[in-house]
Amino acid sequence: MDLKYTRKNVYKEADGKELEAIYAYAEGYKQFLNCAKTERDAARVAEKLAIEKGYKPFSFGEKLQAGDRRYFINRHKNVFLINVGTENVEENGIRIMVAHVDSPRLDLKPNPVYEDSGLCYFKTHYYGGIKKYQWTTIPLALHGVVMLPGGKSVEVNVGEDESDPVFYITDVLPHLGGEQASKTMANGISGESLNAVIGGLPAVGDEEEKEAVKSAILKLLNKKYGLTEVDFQCSELCLVPAGKARDVGFDSSLIMSYGHDDKVCAYPEMTAIFDSQSSPHTIISVFADKEEVGSDGTTGAQCQIIGDVIDTIARSLGANPIAVRYNSKCISADVTAGFDPEFASVYEKRNSTYIHCGAAISKYTGARGKSGSNDANAEFMGWIRDILDADGVYWQTGELGAIDAGGGGTVAKFIANLGIDTVDVGVPVLSMHAPYELISKADVYALYKACLAFCK
Ligand code: MN
Ligand code: MN
Repeated sequence: MDLKYTRKNVYKEADGKELEAIYAYAEGYKQFLNCAKTERDAARVAEKLAIEKGYKPFSFGEKLQAGDRRYFINRHKNVFLINVGTENVEENGIRIMVAHVDSPRLDLKPNPVYEDSGLCYFKTHYYGGIKKYQWTTIPLALHGVVMLPGGKSVEVNVGEDESDPVFYITDVLPHLGGEQASKTMANGISGESLNAVIGGLPAVGDEEEKEAVKSAILKLLNKKYGLTEVDFQCSELCLVPAGKARDVGFDSSLIMSYGHDDKVCAYPEMTAIFDSQSSPHTIISVFADKEEVGSDGTTGAQCQIIGDVIDTIARSLGANPIAVRYNSKCISADVTAGFDPEFASVYEKRNSTYIHCGAAISKYTGARGKSGSNDANAEFMGWIRDILDADGVYWQTGELGAIDAGGGGTVAKFIANLGIDTVDVGVPVLSMHAPYELISKADVYALYKACLAFCK
């Protein structure tokens, strides 16, 4: 019997067969990353996969029964996948997994288009916590939707195909960067200077016209999408890093990509619910929106709608919704800050999670003395530990950085506030919220196994 606890490196423990499974799972995950960059993209992918797996649309009025498989896409951005199980839902509750599918990015302002000095630009308003200087001089792609008058919507996706143009935010050259370099990193690039170049070709024969480049760009957009400038005011368009997820290292043991936070948890919970068809439990897998800006609104995890879906399932099965919630259990599947030896001073190394060491459990998150954290109780931590150990899942625990170094939160508290035992289980990420983040293939696979164990 081991009296001392030692964190295990999955890659050191795994045999050849397991290593093969880890690398194979990563291929599916990379495909998901490449087509699920925004919450709308992720919802579209989830809906398509759910239909392929035989899931039917959910409605609030319907009568469910054991064996039913349902999907509900709330306002194009918030996904619920539902497996109705055979066991008594009032006594056993529902197994709930919640990840978020929004990631930090640059949203377009309502009046985004302007021209200056021969270039046409989009003005942006950043979404979520970013280090602004990281978003200059990288290829950006435009994703989203524009509403035309009369209710017609147009999907926009430019910059992901190899033959597409991309968009670009400039930075000052080092030769003239003295003034910028004397500022703090937080102030070196301002929010109002995150303006992306979208064109430079003036409209022909319009030499006298002011803003000839802007005119030409609007003509192009009108031809391609049927939109006029005012339609941007009824749009959700955002710039995200262009390009695909890539393996990192000679051994390809890691993946760099935009949006690991939190697709690295959304993908495992989705694949786990799909792969848990024989489970007796009633299971819900949720993709939440708006986590990066506080989980508010009709598609965020603070929205009543999560409770409404649970209550609808409960009532439709003839169960008391209050008892169902009380007996339910939730994994808040979100990333945490993996220990980065290059920035060791902001971590406490005995209570950090480490890359390659498996699913990362955070009993609590928060800042300034656990403030704003649900702090899972010891009994629930013990329950989680037992189900993971029973299935040989690699897991570890840690805090998000050293005390008073900063902090962060997840959707865990919003689910816990419904009266549901909840704990954060995710994946350690390096360079979190950067345009391209880094994770270990071993850890995303470990989280998949953890979700499978939770659904079993
Ligand atoms: Mn997150
Ligand atoms: Mn985040």
